[in-house]
Amino acid sequence: MHTDRLPRFPLAQLPTPIEPLKAVSKFLGGPRLLIKRDDQTGLALGGNKTRKLEFLLAEALAQGADRLITVGAAQSNHCRQTAAAAACAGLPCDLVLGGQRPEPNQRPNGNLLLDEILGAKIHWAGQERRDDRLAEVARQLRAQGYHPYIIPYGGSNAVGATGYVRAMEELAAQLAAAKERVDHIVFASSSGGTQAGLVAGAKATGFAGQVLGIRIDKNDPREGPFETAVLTLAQATAARVGLKAPITARDCVIDANYTGGGYGVVGTLEREAIDLMARNEGILLDPVYTGRAFGALVDLICHKRFSRTETVLFWHTGGVPALFAYAADLAP
Ligand SMILES: *Cc1c(COP(=O)(O)O)cnc(C)c1O
Repeated sequence: MHTDRLPRFPLAQLPTPIEPLKAVSKFLGGPRLLIKRDDQTGLALGGNKTRKLEFLLAEALAQGADRLITVGAAQSNHCRQTAAAAACAGLPCDLVLGGQRPEPNQRPNGNLLLDEILGAKIHWAGQERRDDRLAEVARQLRAQGYHPYIIPYGGSNAVGATGYVRAMEELAAQLAAAKERVDHIVFASSSGGTQAGLVAGAKATGFAGQVLGIRIDKNDPREGPFETAVLTLAQATAARVGLKAPITARDCVIDANYTGGGYGVVGTLEREAIDLMARNEGILLDPVYTGRAFGALVDLICHKRFSRTETVLFWHTGGVPALFAYAADLAP
C-alpha cells in the first residue's frame, strides 16, 4: 500500500463500516446505494478530519511541535476534531474561529461547545481575515517560546489529504473482501482535501468508478477555480505517496449546482435530505455538508444521472454535532 510507509498517529476507529441504504434505494427506485460511515471514525463524535489528522499530527510530533493551531468557522467540525486530536497527543490547541465572540448570554452549542469541553483556546477573528488572525496568533505563540504546528483550513494540504488516499485503500480492501463493485463515489467537497485524497487514492488502487465531489461553497471571486485547487492538491498528494500514474483535470469531477444560499445556509434541499435519511435509515446527516451532498445525490438520481443497475456509494463525512447549532433551521 502506498500510505503504509508514511508516519501516522492513530486516532480513528478503522475500517469504518459500509452499509446498504436499502430503504432509501427502494424509495428512489434505484440505483443501489451504499454508505461509508466516516461519521463513525470515533474521535470525539467522528468525521472526515480524523483521517487527515492522523497524518498531520504525526508530522507535528516529528517536527517537535508543542501545540496545534488551526482555523475554521464557529461550527467547524475540523476544529472540533483537531481539538480532540491535540488532547490525544497531550498538546494544547489554539483555534482561530471566524466571526465575533458570542454575547455572554449566548451559550455555546454544537461544535463550539465541544471545542470548549475539549479544552481548546479560542481566538475570534472578528473583522480580520481568519488567516491573518492565524498568522498573528502563531507569531505571538512563537514569541512566547512555543513551537506551534499550523494546520491549514480543513486540514487540506498534501499531508492531510494522505488520510483519504489511505481511506481509498481501505475501501478497495473492503470491496474486494465483499466481492462488491462501486460505480460512483459521491461526497461533500469543501476545502478539497477529501476529494484530492480520494482522487489520488482511486489512481493508486485502480478504482474503475467515478469520484464525484458535490461542491458545498459558493465561488469566491478572490480565488481561482475550485477544480484547479483540487487538481493541484491531488497531484501534490500523489507525489507525497509516491504514485507515478499522472492525475489530470478529468479525474477531478465536481458538481457545483447545489451551493444554494451559500456555505452553512440550510434550505429545503438539506432539510429534506436529512429527514429522508433519518426516517428511512435511522442515520443522521449534518446541515452544512452531508445534508447538502446527499440532497444533491437524490436530485441527480431523480434526473436519471445514474442507471438503475449501478451502485453508488455515498461517503458520509460526518458533521452531525452541528445539527444542534442549527436547531432553529431544522425544527418544524
Ligand atoms: C470538512 C468537511 C467536509 C469537506 O471536506 P473537505 O476535505 O474540506 O473538502 C465534508 N463533510 C464534513 C462533515 C466536513 O466537516
